[in-house]
Amino acid sequence: MKAKRNSHKPTSIKEDWFTEWTSSSMVSSSSPSPQQEENEKESILRLNDIMLKYPLKVHKRSADQKFKMVLEGDHDPRDEEIIASFRQMLFLDGLLPQEHNDYHTLIRFLRRMNFDLIKAKYSFLEYLKWREDFHVDSITKEFKYEEYKDVKRCYPHGFHGVDRHGRPLYIERIGMVDLNVFLQTTSIDRFVKYHVSEQEKTLKSRFPACSISAEKHIASTTSILDVKNVGVSNFSKPARYLFMEIQKIDSNYYPETLHCLYIINAGPGFRVLWNTLKAFLEPRTLAKIRVLGTNYKNDFIEAIDPSNLPSFFGGNCECLDYGGCLLSDKGPWNNPEIMDMLQEMTDSGDESGASNNKVSESDMDDIVIEDVNDITNPTENREDENKLSSMKLRSLEAVLNESSMIFQKLEVALNDAKLVLQTLAQNIEQLKRSNH
Ligand SMILES: [Zn+2]
Repeated sequence: MKAKRNSHKPTSIKEDWFTEWTSSSMVSSSSPSPQQEENEKESILRLNDIMLKYPLKVHKRSADQKFKMVLEGDHDPRDEEIIASFRQMLFLDGLLPQEHNDYHTLIRFLRRMNFDLIKAKYSFLEYLKWREDFHVDSITKEFKYEEYKDVKRCYPHGFHGVDRHGRPLYIERIGMVDLNVFLQTTSIDRFVKYHVSEQEKTLKSRFPACSISAEKHIASTTSILDVKNVGVSNFSKPARYLFMEIQKIDSNYYPETLHCLYIINAGPGFRVLWNTLKAFLEPRTLAKIRVLGTNYKNDFIEAIDPSNLPSFFGGNCECLDYGGCLLSDKGPWNNPEIMDMLQEMTDSGDESGASNNKVSESDMDDIVIEDVNDITNPTENREDENKLSSMKLRSLEAVLNESSMIFQKLEVALNDAKLVLQTLAQNIEQLKRSNH
């Protein structure tokens, strides 16, 4: 059987292009002359040569780009316009620091405020101010929580693997907290700092590592709160204070990072307490919480693979080498290969200086974090025409960066299509030769 050239009239541009491509490069309809055969052999050798070298490069580049895109995640087209307006609003006020000007951070604050731009702006500004006041960046770099292991013994908690979707799994067994020992081991202030450093680690390492591992954008956590034996009687003043502090930080400054919270082993005592606690939680958060009794196994099996579930919750994992599951911090963020890959991507992003949607270093000089209460009239900040133009330029730059991301996606898709066609052409050629 001979490979036949498509004789029907192409019905679409795609087919037309495919027919032309295959006919011009590989497929011929009549018996070849010796010279044609020689040329064909040569072109096959050349193709093999290309197939050996070129696809590797394409694959490496495609892989890098794919992972970059996984980290960047999909942008909902419906959100693009409001993100652009939000950016412009913050730019005009000179309030969009480079490191917080990424799509996913901004969208989290917009979602928290149901896409009300003004409310989202105040919420975002409050966040920036809190970061300054609480010295979040220096906590991330310098804070050492030496009592870490002792605290874990009297307050069992920790990250442990991922759920079936690839999101980090976080566990707290607050029913087992020994508050007296806890307060002798650490202070509430130090614990709150540690909590903030863990939140930063989740945003900067855990989510990106999980995204690479799952090959899809991951930006939220599945959490389990075991409240066995928790009731009004053991929810003392320090416990209440700690709960409120953590709750305030998580909902105000790390909004929209919870996918689902399972509260398990909820007895009658906890349910009384829960009716009070609910009042302090935002409706958006409440919608993500499932309160379960002792019958939680089926829900867990649906959401979490047993290899990622500690044996004390009915899973297979014990993390014996680490002294227990809540001490292991196991997960893609501790996989050296993934972390090296992330580091490489961060470095190459820094080198090119073209990380997405970022304002250049020199622009940082213009950015002033003002007291939230003082920012009441944005027009007061618009006196300097040059500054205004430069800010508008920067907002255009953000739009351009978004477009460049779309082009990168197209490039990857084209490279993939090219590879498929090359392989197809080679197969056709082999078929043709085997039939000679
Ligand atoms: Zn384990």
